Formats: sequence, structure tokens, C-alpha cells
Amino acid sequence: MNDNTYNPFETAQKQFDHAADLLNLDQAVRELLRNPMREYHFLIPVKMDDGNVKVFKGFRVQHNDARGPAKGGIRFHPMETIDTVKALSMWMTWKTSVADIPLGGGKGGVICDPHHLSKAEQEQICRGWVRQIVKNLGPNIDVPAPDVMTNPQHMLWMLDEYETIRGEKLPGFITGKPVGMGGSKGRTEATGYGVIITLREALKELDIKPENTTASVQGFGNVAKYAIERYQKMGGKVICVSSWDEADKASYSFRKKTGIDFKELIAITDSFGGIDKNKARDLGYEVLSGNAWMEQEVDILIPAALENQIRADNVKNINKSVRILAEGANGPTARDADSIINQNKIHVIPDFLANAGGVVCSYFEQVQCNMNYFWEKEEVLEKLDKKMTSAYLSVSDFARSNKMKMRDAAYVIAVNRVAQACRDRGWV
Ligand code: NAD
Repeated sequence: MNDNTYNPFETAQKQFDHAADLLNLDQAVRELLRNPMREYHFLIPVKMDDGNVKVFKGFRVQHNDARGPAKGGIRFHPMETIDTVKALSMWMTWKTSVADIPLGGGKGGVICDPHHLSKAEQEQICRGWVRQIVKNLGPNIDVPAPDVMTNPQHMLWMLDEYETIRGEKLPGFITGKPVGMGGSKGRTEATGYGVIITLREALKELDIKPENTTASVQGFGNVAKYAIERYQKMGGKVICVSSWDEADKASYSFRKKTGIDFKELIAITDSFGGIDKNKARDLGYEVLSGNAWMEQEVDILIPAALENQIRADNVKNINKSVRILAEGANGPTARDADSIINQNKIHVIPDFLANAGGVVCSYFEQVQCNMNYFWEKEEVLEKLDKKMTSAYLSVSDFARSNKMKMRDAAYVIAVNRVAQACRDRGWV
């Protein structure tokens, strides 16, 4: 996001440099993996409903495709920047690698605010985005997906434009499509559920019973909602959630110490994951400042909104009671906050491991599209559980046997696999 004090790409590069040092990577591999292999910038002219033409800026970045076609979402956000997209594309490379699926890393975006765009205008942006970059996308090249403020309808418009231009049906071009139109059952839930599968394994490892735990969550969108639903099914109690209020241009935290009622909150949440603060008050929620979610006396924190939320300036506000940080969002923790988190002995499930469920299920969606045969939801979720559990256990085993922090262990495993693929292909 556009924030002059924070550059997510510099953060992503520093994280990579640290992993490269741990792996003692040679200079050529470092140069290759430190930057995206390809980066596209383009303009999308759109005829708006009032008859005027507005020009939007779009991006696609393919960080690395040594292990398979690039894979990553498209984000619509008014503060989108190329450096955010570059960082996210690099994190996608590590995510597909740590989950051990045969895909690389990419990411895309458009600087726009869907809050203030009609459906017709959003459709034109989606179709325009595909038209500008059609030659560089495809089921065997680069496979987009939804991300912040993009949804299955956006994916279907993009697919339709792609197939129209190509003159053939290629449903594996994009994932996160509506079920019944090439989408996979379970995809909507997959990221949030995946976060909780890794949390379940972490709780086992730390010998903590889920039903004895409480959690606080940042965000109430796709990832947060399904994470909360599944965590509550496991017996845990969520006492606080936070969301963005578009009218006030501020975030708020909503607390109920007896535990939030998931269905009740969903009923007062808009399609962008914003909770109505007045209705929440009427339902007995305390409406607190945006940062209050991280200050709660809970066992588990789940940041599931945006990057750069836990930083050096606010990490000290994390309550000493917190045992686990399950990073649902991409890049929610700044590098300089990690040392305090480690000092406090908080067990971190790093973002690209915790939230890999979405891309794992996207991979399943592509497989199903290519076969033109779709699995039942139970089968998808069972396969998701297997993949996520196995990814978590590889990282935690590696961390334990090498006396490393979970984040370092995840990076070492992921970067090493990609570096090896580059070497095996003879690139370096
Ligand atoms: P979303 O747009 O559905 O929801 C975002 C939520 O965050 C909303 O509830 C919004 O109100 C809230 N929010 C935004 N700014 C906030 C702020 N400053 N403080 C508090 N809350 C705020 O997005 P999503 O798909 O749930 O994605 C959330 C994060 O997870 C992003 O970092 C995204 O990149 C990452 N992620 C998403 C997926 C996926 O499958 N959707 C997969 C992997 C990672």
C-alpha cells in the first residue's frame, strides 16, 4: 500500500537476504531471486457510467516460475503500489514452494477503489486488465486469482475476456471462479481454514488444548471470517475482531469478552468486510480503537487484514499472554518487530505458511479444471488438510532440529527449493 515510511518490497528483499545468508547462496542465485523475473505496467482506459473515460493503472509481476507457472492474486486498492505487488509476488514464490505445489510466484493489481465503482465499471477494469497482458498469461504461464477487494465475479469476467480473445475454453487460466463456473468447492473457505489447520498443529506442538484458548483477529474479510468459523468449531473463543470503516477512513476493534457471535457479526458486515459500528454497539460490542485488537489478553493473535500492521512502534502493545501469532494476512509483521516477538517467546506461524491454503486450493481448482472433473467439498478439504499439515510439520520439524525460528525455517525450506529448481534447470 502507498505509505512513504514503509516499502514492502524492501522488507521482502531483506527477508530473502537473511534466508540467502542462512543458506549461503551464491551471488548468481541471489541476484536471480532477489528481484522479479518480469514486471508489467499498463494503463486501462475505462468508459465510466457518466460517459467520461478514466484511465486506471494496472500491474502484473512474475517473480519466479522455475517450479511451475507463476501464481498469485490480483488486488484492487486505491493505495496499490508496484512495490507492494513486487513484494507480494516474491512472497507467492515462497508460499507455493513451502506448500510444495508445482507453481511459481506472481501478483497483480489495479489502482482503483471498488467502493466507488459500479458493477459495470468494475467489469470493464477486469476485462481491460486481461486485454493489456493477455499474451503473458495462461494456464501454463501465469495463473491469476482473487486478493483484497477482488472476488469470484471479477475472476469470471477475466476468464470470459481471456477465452473470448483466445477463442477457446481455458478454465485453468484463472482460479477463485464461482463454483459451477469452473470454481472449486472449498476455495472460498480455504485460506481461513488453512490458517486454522496450521494453528491446530501448532497447538498440538505446544501441548495446548484449543478449547482452552482465546483469540483476537484483525480483519473480518474472507480470510478472517473462515478462520474464525473454523477456530470456533475447534472450541476456541474469539473475543475481538477489527475492521476498516470506509465512511470514517479508520479502523475499529469490536470486543465482546464472552466471545463474539460469528453469525450476528456477519449480518452487520458489508461486502468488503466492514462491520457497522453503530449496529455492533447495539448488539453489545465495545467499539475500540483500530489497534486494540492486538492489545487483548488472549492466547492467539490472527492478523488477517493487510501488511505492515505489527511494527517496531506498536509491537510492545502485544499482551504478554499471547503464545501464538498465526499470520493470516500477507506480510502483517515488519521485520523490526520480529525480535520483540521472539523475545516474548511467541510461536509464529509465518504468513506464507499460514495462509497457503488459498493457493493450495487454487492449485486443486486448476487440476480439476484441466481434468474437467470436480471433486466434492469434503474431498477438497481433506486434501487441503493433508497439504497444510504436511507443510506445517516440515517447517516445525526443520525449525526444531536446526534450532531456528519458524519464520527462518520456512524461508530456508522455500528458498532452497526454488534455488534448486533454478540450478536443476541450468539457469544458474
Ligand atoms: P478482504 O478484502 O476480504 O478483507 C480484508 C479485511 O481487512 C476487511 O474486513 C477489512 O475491513 C479489513 N481491514 C482493512 N484494512 C484494515 C485496517 N487498517 N485495520 C483493520 N482491518 C482492516 O481480504 P482477504 O481476502 O481476507 O485478505 C486479507 C489478507 O490476507 C491480505 O493480506 C491478503 O493478501 C491475504 N491473503 C488472502 C488470501 C485469500 O484467499 N483471500 C490468500 C492469502 C493471503
